[in-house]
Amino acid sequence: MASYNIFLLPGDGIGPEVTAEVEKVAKVISDAGLASFEFEKGLVGGSAYDAHGKAISEADMARAQAADAVMLAAVGGPKWADVPYDVRPEAGLLRLRKDLGLFANLRPAVCYPALADASALKREIVEGLDIMIVRELTGGVYFGEPKEIIDLGNGQKRAIDTQVYDTYEIERIAAVAFELARKRGNKVTSSEKHNVMKSGVLWKDVVTELHRKSYPDVQLDHMLADALGMQLVRWPKQFDVIVTDNLFGDMLSDVASMLTGSLGMLPSASLGAADANGKRKAMYEPVHGSAPDIAGKGIANPIAMIGSFGMALRYSFGLGQAADLIEKAIADVLAAGLRTADIKGEATTSISTSAMGDAIVTALKKSV
Ligand code: NAD
Repeated sequence: MASYNIFLLPGDGIGPEVTAEVEKVAKVISDAGLASFEFEKGLVGGSAYDAHGKAISEADMARAQAADAVMLAAVGGPKWADVPYDVRPEAGLLRLRKDLGLFANLRPAVCYPALADASALKREIVEGLDIMIVRELTGGVYFGEPKEIIDLGNGQKRAIDTQVYDTYEIERIAAVAFELARKRGNKVTSSEKHNVMKSGVLWKDVVTELHRKSYPDVQLDHMLADALGMQLVRWPKQFDVIVTDNLFGDMLSDVASMLTGSLGMLPSASLGAADANGKRKAMYEPVHGSAPDIAGKGIANPIAMIGSFGMALRYSFGLGQAADLIEKAIADVLAAGLRTADIKGEATTSISTSAMGDAIVTALKKSV
């Protein structure tokens, strides 16, 4: 039986509450003999600052580098609002993404039938929705130089951000999207603004050429990013995999996330380049933050965190079938009417974080 080392960073706020549920789910997969997992724990964010005066220690960075996958819950909270900028909780997250070279951010937006009424859109528009947004995470306008505010000396200032992409950055993120599409609906929609941006012209050219050379079997469409934003709320089920840059991906993935109802439901994966053995550095985390307003109350929804473990099984450990079973267990529990407070909707009662974890464990045990 294969054994995997997962470096677990519960972080702050509700982090420790939701990661505890992941360990329960992992035990079911281990007990079924599918794979075994060793969880090593570290500190990141405010909890690391309290312990070491840094957002993540060098020893924990080394553990993250050595692990088969990193799982992180969330960082931050009002307690650390005034700590110095370079050791603020988010600095730990950014350091992990940068040092592990995690250039591909995968955010699925799946709408479970039982939760279709929790979406801001009509049931028929979102029910059965299953799209994957692939966002470039380490380039583009958030990192391009120059990035500055200049005093023009006449009472005016000028702010400059630079959108910059090299061919290799576009190629590698597009390749991730095409590979994913082959395992899903076999369709990629690439999005940029080639009508007004040079980076968009290069993006479209590089994606088109890579498609011609290496992925002609996958359907490829191009859509301007503004039009794609509109189509995401008009008829999102037309999409399978969407690939886009850092800035547009940031916005479009947040739009897509609200199609599904609640922040507490959304997992994500961030992947690095494949090594000679095809193995990638990877970090799995829910989309939500540390939710300080509900931390310590035992009412956080653990599904985004459990779903992130499912993504680790699928994308780091080659255990796609086990990941399917976790997703089915989540769907079954929701279909049975069990809800945490954030997804309660019309339901009269809600259950705790650990009760939701236990219910998913019970459902999962029936199918593994
Ligand atoms: P948030 O995601 O923490 O919370 C937004 C709202 O959603 C809150 O009302 C919260 O209670 C609710 N919520 C979030 N996750 C939930 C869950 N699993 N179950 C039930 N309800 C849930 O965002 P915020 O309030 O803007 O930020 C709080 C802190 O988290 C800040 O310090 C922020 O910087 C940080 N943050 C961290 C990350 C990260 O670690 N990746 C992401 C976003 C925000």
